[in-house]
Amino acid sequence: MSEKYIYDLSEGDASMKSLLGGKGAGVAEMMRLGVPVPDGFTVTTQACIETMNNGGTWPAGLRDQISDALARFEERAGRKLGASEKPLLVSVRSGAVVSMPGMMDTILNLGISDESVAAVAAEANNERFAWDCYRRFIQMYGEVVEGLDAHIYEDALTAMKQRKGASQDTDLTAEDLKELTTEFKQISDDALGGAWPSDPREQLMRAVEAVFNSWQNPRAKVYRKANHISDDLGTAVNVMQMVFGNRGETSATGVCFTRNPSTGENALYGEFLTNAQGEDVVAGIRTPRPLIEMKEVLPQAYGELVDTMHKMETHYRDMQDMEFTVENGKLYMLQTRNGKRTAAAALKVASDLVDEGLIDKEEAVRRIEPDQLDQLLHPAIDPGQSATPITKGLPASPGAAVGAAVFDADTAAERGEAGEPVVLIRFETTPDDIHGVLQAQGVLTAHGGMTSHAAVVARGFGKPCVAGATDIKIDTEAKTMTVGGVTVHEGDTLTLNGSTGEVFNTALKLIPPRLNEDFLKVVGWADEIRDLGVEANADNGTDAAKARELGAEGIGLCRTEHMFFGDDRLPAMHEMILSENDEQRQVALDKILPMQQSDFEAIFTAMKGLPVTVRLLDPPLHEFMPDLVTQALKVQEMELKGADPTKLAEERRTLAQVKKLHEQNPMLGTRGCRLGMLYPQIPDMQARAIARAALAVLDREGETVDLQIMVPLVHLRQELQRQREIVVAAVDDELDKAGQKLDYLVGTMIELPRAALVADQIAQEADFFSFGTNDLTQTTLGISRDDAENGFLGWYEAQGVVKRDPFATIDVDGVGQLVRMGTEKGRAANPKLSVGVCGEHGGDPDSIAFFQSVGLDYVSCSPFRVPIARFAAAKAKL
Ligand code: ADP
Ligand code: MG
Ligand code: MG
Repeated sequence: MSEKYIYDLSEGDASMKSLLGGKGAGVAEMMRLGVPVPDGFTVTTQACIETMNNGGTWPAGLRDQISDALARFEERAGRKLGASEKPLLVSVRSGAVVSMPGMMDTILNLGISDESVAAVAAEANNERFAWDCYRRFIQMYGEVVEGLDAHIYEDALTAMKQRKGASQDTDLTAEDLKELTTEFKQISDDALGGAWPSDPREQLMRAVEAVFNSWQNPRAKVYRKANHISDDLGTAVNVMQMVFGNRGETSATGVCFTRNPSTGENALYGEFLTNAQGEDVVAGIRTPRPLIEMKEVLPQAYGELVDTMHKMETHYRDMQDMEFTVENGKLYMLQTRNGKRTAAAALKVASDLVDEGLIDKEEAVRRIEPDQLDQLLHPAIDPGQSATPITKGLPASPGAAVGAAVFDADTAAERGEAGEPVVLIRFETTPDDIHGVLQAQGVLTAHGGMTSHAAVVARGFGKPCVAGATDIKIDTEAKTMTVGGVTVHEGDTLTLNGSTGEVFNTALKLIPPRLNEDFLKVVGWADEIRDLGVEANADNGTDAAKARELGAEGIGLCRTEHMFFGDDRLPAMHEMILSENDEQRQVALDKILPMQQSDFEAIFTAMKGLPVTVRLLDPPLHEFMPDLVTQALKVQEMELKGADPTKLAEERRTLAQVKKLHEQNPMLGTRGCRLGMLYPQIPDMQARAIARAALAVLDREGETVDLQIMVPLVHLRQELQRQREIVVAAVDDELDKAGQKLDYLVGTMIELPRAALVADQIAQEADFFSFGTNDLTQTTLGISRDDAENGFLGWYEAQGVVKRDPFATIDVDGVGQLVRMGTEKGRAANPKLSVGVCGEHGGDPDSIAFFQSVGLDYVSCSPFRVPIARFAAAKAKL
């Protein structure tokens, strides 16, 4: 006997979702509970999966099982598919395990034919209705099964309405629709170059096949990718008796939510249309009416609907999204599922359901989709407006930005500082652009991915960012950007949607972010549950304050390189880099020290005694210098123009130094602690600036500092040993001079594979480890994170070679193994070692689940991801 591929609706229930799909299981469950639903049967997802695996061939026995199920169904209904007397009409509906609203196909009214149409009309005593069903069927069958273009039907319908002077579909008479049906048949035959099977049984088989295939249609694939739904789940197919919302004014079809999916408010929410079928409500063919009006039009069905909504919500203990049809005053439910909702609604519903005693706090936390909380933290585009984007890039940092287009960081900084909202457009951004980014509302780049510099920085500042919009052509000279025939000039208004990657060339209306009571309440429950600490990556006092406001329990990563940029600092930095001996270098560093000190003071003050982990200088020195080509051209031009000899000499000296610093692979070159090894004066200066800042804050009444100093890019025990010596000597010297005492820790980043492999050796010198998973991913995979996404990695993702971007979600099998090994070896060698993560993965829910399983102490992420991490950490524990 072959496998059971079919379940009658009466055999199923909600627990069989993975086999029957969400829709099939939901309808079966309603039937079980005595809610009126049309009868039918479900073809399992297993049948679809086997078909896919067989290259489109159905598994043995499926066809016979469908025939048998249909026979049983016809028996129960007392009707026969396509018969000239008492015909059975069915819908053939897709239904995936995870709901993918509107992504796959459904065919209605199957069973109507030249044989059965008269009987349908006679039974309903409504000729018009029968032809309405027929023409709808031909169109759906043509589109879904035969793959014909919707336009050919829509054009014919429009032409017909014009001919008849009808403004709406409902104005067409029975005669008109009959004529339209004939026309539709002709159009289909012409397009196909032959007639299609007119036997409804054969049509049913082909419809099932088409629904299977719709799992693979492009929009379904895109939807799955965006929502990380596996491609091999397959869809079930539900064959159900038709109920008719298009039988006249006592019939209707509609959709409803048991609560408001946009605000979460506990109020009925929905729309309906009388004398309509299927997608008419959502498709916008006619403007649907608010559900409350149904109370007047169809009072009895309305009452039953409200009762059913209540019943199903209580049953599932969650907000339901339902579909219904009323046929001649009688209500039928066609679908129920947990409703999709905004973050604000999710929080309100969860919190209300706890108050109503339907769920407990843990369940409430379990139901929050952490990633979705981003919506709450950034101004969002008001959804009640329509606009067409001029292009689309990667949704690199969520939220919406409206401002004037500018094409360089200086202009962005200048105009931004003057209070003008600007959007910074760059081919890609470098740390040099930071001032522009800071003053811009948002950032748009043509190059770079989700973890590109622009994206990381933008997220860090909570700035919306669309990255890697590869279609745009930027002309920095002319200060224009061109895409799809549209040219944007400097000063033109743009709107970025960092949550979708869309770019608009108008000012869209925004709505402000809000962290409301519901949020605070539910996140409080998450905090009670979680074990993982949540800290933030912050480089200045403002960000630190923001991070604390969002619930960060410390700063897990304070990058110091940003402190070297800025008009007042860069010259001193250049001086330091151009120094020819230690004395000169010390003079330059002495100028930088007080500036760094004041930055650290601001951070310590903002953090009020919570841990602050300061990382010593990390990037290669060339990043602070002009680029090689630019400098060479500058010198050349000065030579040609016969410039002032002293000035020329100066520029030549810079050029020589730039050449000297040039490296083929700077990311694998002289950076991180390697700088501190070659130039011990740098960590010495930084350690003193940190210590002096701490002392200054400690001097103030009631203030404390929890200080941790972190050495980057270590791969040898000797590196950490030496750097530690330098840091400890400097800090202790400062403390001694001040006659003060302060406990502090010195630790390291683990961001090179070797460091993880010899973590036991390194742990001898470390008080803490922080996995820098950005670099660790880059170095373990041998993939440059700044180039990969626009190159082969993007292609890999599109082709399904890799499931997830390893820079966004940790590669558990590879990089994850190093994290696990590094943690275990480190702790074995040094039981007091505290271990955290400070890469972008620290704010990614799936990665957080992994870090919880490894038993890390904390994660650190961008301030704006802190609330997300708090929820994700709690969910990882549940
Ligand atoms: P989707 O998954 O895209 O929502 P559905 O399978 O729910 O697709 O079908 C779309 C619409 O078709 C439903 O919302 C409902 O209005 C209509 N429909 C489906 N099956 C039936 C049926 N048996 N009787 C009446 N209408 C139906
Ligand atoms: Mg539906
Ligand atoms: Mg690093």
